[in-house]
Amino acid sequence: MYTTSFEYHRAASVEEAVRLLSLHGDDAKLLAGGHSLIPLMKLRLARPAHLIDIARAPELQGIREESGRLVVGAATTHRALASSAAVRRSLPMLAEAAAGIGDVQVRGRGTIGGSLAHADPAADLPAVVLALDAELVAVGVGGERIIPAEGFFQGLMATALGPDEVLREIRFPLPPPRTGSAYVKHEHPASRYALVGVAAVLELDAAGPVGRARVALTGVGTRAVRAGAVERALGGLEPTDATLGAAADRATDGLELHADRSGPVEYRRNLVRVYTHRALEAALARARAG
Ligand code: FAD
Repeated sequence: MYTTSFEYHRAASVEEAVRLLSLHGDDAKLLAGGHSLIPLMKLRLARPAHLIDIARAPELQGIREESGRLVVGAATTHRALASSAAVRRSLPMLAEAAAGIGDVQVRGRGTIGGSLAHADPAADLPAVVLALDAELVAVGVGGERIIPAEGFFQGLMATALGPDEVLREIRFPLPPPRTGSAYVKHEHPASRYALVGVAAVLELDAAGPVGRARVALTGVGTRAVRAGAVERALGGLEPTDATLGAAADRATDGLELHADRSGPVEYRRNLVRVYTHRALEAALARARAG
């Protein structure tokens, strides 16, 4: 099916994209990789009269280390994230999540900014930015503002971005020594979207116990969420297989799971438990190695 007709604009800068967004209001949509928006347009679930292509805006490009953070431009593709030496060294979980998205075409065009702004409930990167305590920098008519990942995802495909705002970059704090992170998912065999995806970060104290744990889940509801019960269950404990397993058992505490085409609620609950345990084990191995 074809999309409805639209006027194409190529924004040379974030400032121009913001100006075009505020000029055309609800009739306009930003276009990055197009791998989520164009399918919606073909299904007539979105009918923007104006498409504002931001994929080449210079402020949205690149991956750089700056003041103890890794800063990723919103138009960075999944492929660039997966192959970046800086990302693989500092935040291996981000590289492994990006490497597991879709297929080579999706990774070559799809962007981190598009994935986060689209906020699909089964997307991989929302869980990763939550677990890594990232900050998202948005630019709109009123200027720039920083949105903590924790407050960014608000519901089914709903985020804290305002209608005239462009997500410019994502800032990831660089982890302290003895920190390990891992992302694992049970993927849909065709699309590779997460039936369940778990992002885990473990920071070990010098003496050995877990100093700080961050765990986030995707594919379990309308939006990616932190698994607070798992994080609290691990703090201060010696990380053994038994303590990791007991913490993983709490992964769905406070969550309302629903049966869907992939199976009943109990199946989903078990997937979350098993994949949380695996993510914790992988993060622990990296924390000990680092
Ligand atoms: P676009 O489609 O261009 O835009 C998506 C939305 O975000 C639009 O509303 C757009 O206006 C908005 N937007 C884009 N950039 C910005 C910005 N900088 N600021 C504000 N708003 C912005 N995803 C996964 O996580 N895991 C998978 O396994 C997976 N498999 C896929 C398989 C297939 C076959 C396809 C087609 C997609 C798959 N995806 C998967 C989705 C893929 O990651 C998309 O590329 C991504 O969700 C959207 O990124 P995009 O750059 O293509 O955004």
